[in-house]
Amino acid sequence: LYNQLQDLKGNIRVYCRVRPSTGPQPDHHCPVSNIDEGSISLSIPSKNGKDGKKTFNFNRVFAEVFSDTQPLIRSVLDGYNVCIFAYGQTGSGKTHTMSGPDNYTEETVGVNYRALKDLFHLSEQRKDTIHYDISVQMLEIYNEQVRDLLATDEIRNSSHNGINVPDANLVPVSSTSDVLNLMNLGQKNRAVSATAMNDRSSRSHSCLTVHVQGREFASGNSLRGCIHLVDLAGSERVDKSEVTGDRLKEAQHINKSLSALGDVIASLAQKQSHVPYRNSKLTQLLQDSLGGQAKTLMFVHVSPEPDAIGETISTLKFAERVSTI
Ligand code: ADP
Ligand code: MG
Repeated sequence: LYNQLQDLKGNIRVYCRVRPSTGPQPDHHCPVSNIDEGSISLSIPSKNGKDGKKTFNFNRVFAEVFSDTQPLIRSVLDGYNVCIFAYGQTGSGKTHTMSGPDNYTEETVGVNYRALKDLFHLSEQRKDTIHYDISVQMLEIYNEQVRDLLATDEIRNSSHNGINVPDANLVPVSSTSDVLNLMNLGQKNRAVSATAMNDRSSRSHSCLTVHVQGREFASGNSLRGCIHLVDLAGSERVDKSEVTGDRLKEAQHINKSLSALGDVIASLAQKQSHVPYRNSKLTQLLQDSLGGQAKTLMFVHVSPEPDAIGETISTLKFAERVSTI
């Protein structure tokens, strides 16, 4: 099978992506500079007028790179569990990375679609030796509550045997278009519940999980693998003196779950014996797919605006802490 990836590269990879400037003119004051294959430098304004510089190192810093997800997809079909995360402040490009822009084309489509396309393509290539059953689950975690985004009347014939959420719908799929339809349905379902809150999507984690079950014809052996594609809630800190009520509660839940995720990945990266999975719904949900033989890829996003420098620093610190290099 195709397990070189693990030996070659380690099980946790962290890639940084800098969103291009969205203003009419390119932003000459962008504090992010010297982006190259593996590092990123920041100019940090200081009080005495001299800018400081700090360099962060990553497995990879990229503009357009998706080819690295391919070996991960292959390993799912070999029976491994994989998590791909998008981390960053609201507006930094998480959804752009995972789902692609609103009017995506074949070229600009996001990680989710590419992953599924590769998954179906590879399973088709192996169809003479292994039969695969592929099914999909879509969950949202909001204020530490897990919600099944595929729990609607439109879905029938689905079984209730998701690994960590026993009652969540697990819907069999046989093509990328099946999955696209489900993703649209899940998105719609997510939006419906947004009610008074204007942009719930930035304050909840969404997780698209693809479960794969394979049976090898020759040996009769079976295997199971899965991939979680997670668009995390915005990582920005809110000022406690400025928000109250629901907004504060949301912020505290997000903060808690992102810290818990950081703690889990950092303790795996440092090969600590105790991994604190129990501290949040997110890490409980993904427990089987973080650590052990599982593989983790995190896309860490930063915004180019000078105003975002505080969040950029804390995002890159988070990334540095969870990366193995
Ligand atoms: P987030 O999900 O982190 O809140 P979005 O993915 O919604 O952020 O990105 C915010 C805006 O910036 C969107 O309009 C998106 O299309 C645009 N954008 C983000 N990343 C890129 C990129 N790499 N190239 C072009 N536009 C981008
Ligand atoms: Mg988003």
